[in-house]
Amino acid sequence: MLVDYHLHLAPDGVALGAAELSPARVALYAESARERGIDHVCLTEHCHRFRQAAGLFDHPFWNESAQADLDAYVNAVRSNGPPVGCGIELDWIEGREEEIEALISARDFDLVLGSVHWLGGLAVDHPDYAIWDEMAADEVWRRYFAQVRAAAASGLFDVLAHLDLAKVFGHCASQSVIDSEHEQTADAIAAAGIAVEISTAGLRKAAGELYPAQDLLRALHRRGVPITLGSDGHVPEDLGRDYPRALEAAHACGYRTVSMFSGRERREVPLG
Ligand SMILES: [Zn+2]
Ligand SMILES: [Zn+2]
Repeated sequence: MLVDYHLHLAPDGVALGAAELSPARVALYAESARERGIDHVCLTEHCHRFRQAAGLFDHPFWNESAQADLDAYVNAVRSNGPPVGCGIELDWIEGREEEIEALISARDFDLVLGSVHWLGGLAVDHPDYAIWDEMAADEVWRRYFAQVRAAAASGLFDVLAHLDLAKVFGHCASQSVIDSEHEQTADAIAAAGIAVEISTAGLRKAAGELYPAQDLLRALHRRGVPITLGSDGHVPEDLGRDYPRALEAAHACGYRTVSMFSGRERREVPLG
């Protein structure tokens, strides 16, 4: 079985208007899934695009982005039915656990993806608010993974997205920092009992590799952490993109099953 559990309805910078939040747009993802032999997919739109999430984070980027209606999104996705499920990509924002929980529990999601993009008011992946000019790379990586561990421990998320996103622009930490952070982070995720995605999006960025890196994926497998697969596609054409690379990495690390989600319940099925 194959899944794509990380998909967006429009490219970054394109507002989610009536055309994007329509059954017709969602149907294009269903068609793409069928064409590519992907058995189940979930749309996982960014929470920052919805006005119901406006209060989660007081930041200019967030305030500008929070325009669309979250319930219109859920209704559009739900109108399609299988093989399309409804998820959301939620930022982990420390201190806002209750608001995040309220946003999730009020709606009928199949899957909640947890992401760390922001460290305070600066982002690891947004050029206009880049953290990389402000502090040493080792320090960014330490802070980034500390937030990933906090996200895991929060109990809010089913799957953690792009686990080592901080490499997106090609910034590396020293090997001793990476080794230590990988081990601690794998421990925290295993203790939380949640899954991680293998994301092919990093192949399309300066990082030039899958998220997570192979040694982190091995550390997760050793601890029995389950996986999903995701393209982080923002157009239907990117659904399932570069999956042979993801499958190769999963197999090399020992994975033989993939997690499927429905109504936030996880079950393991054979991978591939
Ligand atoms: Zn993301
Ligand atoms: Zn995403």
